[in-house]
Amino acid sequence: MTSRRRRRRAKRTVRLTHLAAFAAGVLFVWVAVSVRAWIHPERASPARLDPLTTPPSRFHWTEQPAPAFPIPPYARYLEDVRIVLDPGHGGDADRPNWKRGPTGLREADVNLRVAQFLREFLDAAGARAWLTRDADVALDADPAADLAKRIGLANELNADLFLSIHHNGADQPGPNYTSLYFHGSPEQSAASRCAARYLLTGLTDALRLEQDLPCAVLSDHVLYQNGLHVLRAARVPAVLGEASFHSNPQEEQRLRDLLYNRCEAYGYFVGLARWAQAGLPRIELLEPERTATRAARRWVVELDDGLSARGGFGSQTLKIAADSLVVKLNGQRVPFTADLAKHRLAIDLPARLSGGSAELFVDFENVFGQHVLHPRVVVSRSGGP
Ligand SMILES: [Zn+2]
Repeated sequence: MTSRRRRRRAKRTVRLTHLAAFAAGVLFVWVAVSVRAWIHPERASPARLDPLTTPPSRFHWTEQPAPAFPIPPYARYLEDVRIVLDPGHGGDADRPNWKRGPTGLREADVNLRVAQFLREFLDAAGARAWLTRDADVALDADPAADLAKRIGLANELNADLFLSIHHNGADQPGPNYTSLYFHGSPEQSAASRCAARYLLTGLTDALRLEQDLPCAVLSDHVLYQNGLHVLRAARVPAVLGEASFHSNPQEEQRLRDLLYNRCEAYGYFVGLARWAQAGLPRIELLEPERTATRAARRWVVELDDGLSARGGFGSQTLKIAADSLVVKLNGQRVPFTADLAKHRLAIDLPARLSGGSAELFVDFENVFGQHVLHPRVVVSRSGGP
């Protein structure tokens, strides 16, 4: 054999070896994918499953659909609604292992990103949103003063909702679920737990976590005897959200992803839009004005169910559950007369009432189960007999 022939033959052998190696590679990948799909049928790409004929058990809840963030038409009910967003923590990067995931992701950073994305959605819907912090800072070097300033902003603005955005941490890597907190007893924070309910639904749909709590809307008394500072000091509806666990290794990696943070913000947003769609009940003291003479013995309150004023089909029917009306004066239930068709309620003040000011509390439920956002009115009383 000439050396030329030998070279040609050697070249052909090399080419054939490459081809064989390539074919083996393709075969290996095909076998691996098939075996994986056979072992984990739920992991098969949702795009390959025919939604019309695939049994529900083949779909997997944690397989998220392609993210999209449209503003739903019912988000228009958020217009001019005043919401204070509170990205938890901040300015604490120098504290080792403080509120961090297993590979160092800081909760404070994730909270801020979610709040900023949420503000963008709320702005687009015409709501009025404020952030307690817009950078990695503490509002005060003293932790208690820091918390007081956060809720202080919402109280000052008489916000319709204060929403504190957090992510949970546990000693064990396993837990990863959503929980929402209101302050005190269920009747103490009626409007707050209404908001929490809608926020839970929004987050559940957006995050698609595997785990859930049997009851995910909870009183903050399960965390601390006196509850959470930011909720306890609230004079407006207030909710604290723990969307998921940064201490869970897989969840920590998801929380690093800006797109996932935006999905979470959208979950909050859709929850808020549904909450606003359900009507935000309010009361207004018609007589007397905020300052009354002591001689004024009859107070008249206007009841706004948050729905009737929108007009439209069925707007004339009653939207307030009569049995749900609660009227208190300085913490004590008092008799009243209500004309629900006229959205009016009258209270004849007890003769024994004295003192410089009186706190009136009026609450009720509308047809969606929504409660009065600001049920307390303080009336200064002067002069008179
Ligand atoms: Zn936190």
